[in-house]
Amino acid sequence: MLANKTALVTGSTSGIGLGIAHQLAKAGCRLVLHGFLDESKVADFVQSFKDDYGVNVFFSGADLRDVDEINAMAEMINKEVGGIDILVNNAGIQYTAPLEDFPLDKWNDILAINLSSSFHTMQKFLPAMQSNQWGRIINISSVHGLVASVNKAAYCAAKHGLVGLTKVAALENADKGICINTICPGWVSTPLIQSQIDDIAREKGIDADQARVELITAKQPRPEMVAPSQIGDLVVFLCSDSAAGITGANLPIDGAWTAQ
Ligand code: NAD
Repeated sequence: MLANKTALVTGSTSGIGLGIAHQLAKAGCRLVLHGFLDESKVADFVQSFKDDYGVNVFFSGADLRDVDEINAMAEMINKEVGGIDILVNNAGIQYTAPLEDFPLDKWNDILAINLSSSFHTMQKFLPAMQSNQWGRIINISSVHGLVASVNKAAYCAAKHGLVGLTKVAALENADKGICINTICPGWVSTPLIQSQIDDIAREKGIDADQARVELITAKQPRPEMVAPSQIGDLVVFLCSDSAAGITGANLPIDGAWTAQ
């Protein structure tokens, strides 16, 4: 379905981004994988996608906290890859603390990675999508782009910001064949949430499995996490012609968390 398309998925060395990359590759999409990965593992990582899906694959390890690195990544993609048709802004980090104790460096990093990097990549890649009169941008926000939780000041600020940024971009490009949406997941089984499970286990003196159940059911009526591949399947659908009318939307996959 996506055989003639190329996608950049930020943060695709782990978790949700990796799940999205697999589903896009399965649909025949060429890929620019991105994220932090030990230098010695990059070649095997790229080769495994080529072997499994027979698609062309590139890699960038740009640190999204650094605008110069984002610009260099965009230059590499435009020169060596020939640009992209699909942009998935997925990379993100988490840190939890009460607002009055929130460390400034964590605030700055979360805002830079979870929000500002999407502004920078959209600025870089929108003009070519506009010329082509076709494009898809999927920004991975969160239920925390729609509702709040305690101790997540930076994360909620960034994810709410990403929802707003996405709506503006969608409005500005609605007549140009470009669909721009957010996906807003509830709990997804990835390394990003492990420290929250560990905190609950330590505070309550329970094991990791019990802590995991406590974490999920405190907010989410459906007592199960979503798999990264399920987020990937929604991304693939949003890239299809069937989804051409979906733009400016925030799509929860959250087990009814935000229905309450
Ligand atoms: P993860 O920790 O498994 O993966 C994060 C990815 O981002 C990795 O590839 C990592 O290398 C990359 N990354 C982190 N900092 C970076 C930086 N400075 N520069 C470049 N790359 C960087 O996390 P995940 O759970 O897969 O999260 C992916 C996205 O999904 C995030 O935006 C997160 O906020 C969002 N999300 C996750 C959940 C969940 O329950 N896991 C729920 C809702 C939304």
